[in-house]
This record gives sequence, C-alpha cells and structure tokens, in this order.
Amino acid sequence: MASSDSAALVLNASYEPLCVVSSRRAAVLVLTAKAVAVADGDGVLHSERTSMAVPSVVRLSRFVKVPYRATVPLTRKAVFARDGGKCVYCSAPATSLDHVVPKSRGGPHTWDNVVSACSRCNHVKADRGIAELGWRFNRTPAVPAGSAWRVVGARRVDPRWRPFLDGGSAEDAAVLDEPA
Ligand SMILES: [Zn+2]
Repeated sequence: MASSDSAALVLNASYEPLCVVSSRRAAVLVLTAKAVAVADGDGVLHSERTSMAVPSVVRLSRFVKVPYRATVPLTRKAVFARDGGKCVYCSAPATSLDHVVPKSRGGPHTWDNVVSACSRCNHVKADRGIAELGWRFNRTPAVPAGSAWRVVGARRVDPRWRPFLDGGSAEDAAVLDEPA
C-alpha cells in the first residue's frame, strides 16, 4: 500500500512533464490503460484482481495537447522559487513578496511586478519605485517557463522524476523550503 502522500509524475506521450498526481490516481491511469508506468516507486498496490508496483512516473498513452504557455500560479512559494529564495535587491534570504511598482501606485499583482524581498529592503523601499531609489534587478522579473514548473506545487520532488524534468534551477527551486 502506498503511503497517502506518495505522488507520481505524469508525463505526456511525448515525455513532457504535465503534472503531479497521487500514486493511487496514477495507478488507476495505468490499470485503465490510459498510461504506462515508466518508473516504479516504493511498495506495491493491491486490488481485487491484481497487484502492481506503486508508480512513481507514468506516461500517458495518448498525446494530450497543452497550452503553449501553461500558467504557473502566482503564489509566494512559486515567486520564492523563481527568485532562488533570495531578495532580488540585496540577495539576503527572502522573507516577503514585494510589488516593484507599489500597489498604492496601481502596480498589478502579476509575475513581472511581484518579486521576493527581504524585510529590510521591503521596509526601506516602502511606497517608492526602484528608479527613485536607484535600485536595479540582476534579472528582469518574468513569468517562469519550462516543464519543471509544472511540479512547483508538489510537496516534494521524487528523485526518480529528475531525469524527466528540464531546467536544473527550477527543478531545485521546486523543493525550496520557505523561510519560517
Ligand atoms: Zn533585500
């Protein structure tokens, strides 16, 4: 029996990572011939008629069309992951989100206007824009891209998924723990 929190990576027929589902859900996909197991996890699942290794990675039997740019939800965890867990202004450990153009000045809550920041920079910056402060980015904030971002929401990244995920940094970022 798989532990309740075990998860499986679902690949498209083209081997592109699509999402993360529970191991039980992945097993159903395999048993209904909607997917084939690519990598086994730990343990065995039993049903009335059969038993199978807990799937860790499954691949869909039929190709599923996905939007060119799958949306990455704008969450604190995802912003921290994109920015490497560091303040984009001073590289100290990030503790909060900052709106580059402050909300009070109509700055939107979008990927190109939200960055991770430390409390000190957030406090110093307050309601000012970075041009007024003479601050600069090392990298312009943007919507994260790449298939590894499909698993940012997963609680942990199974090492057996790594061969199927692209972009090393995002892959590592996906397991980044938020500072307390
Ligand atoms: Zn800072």
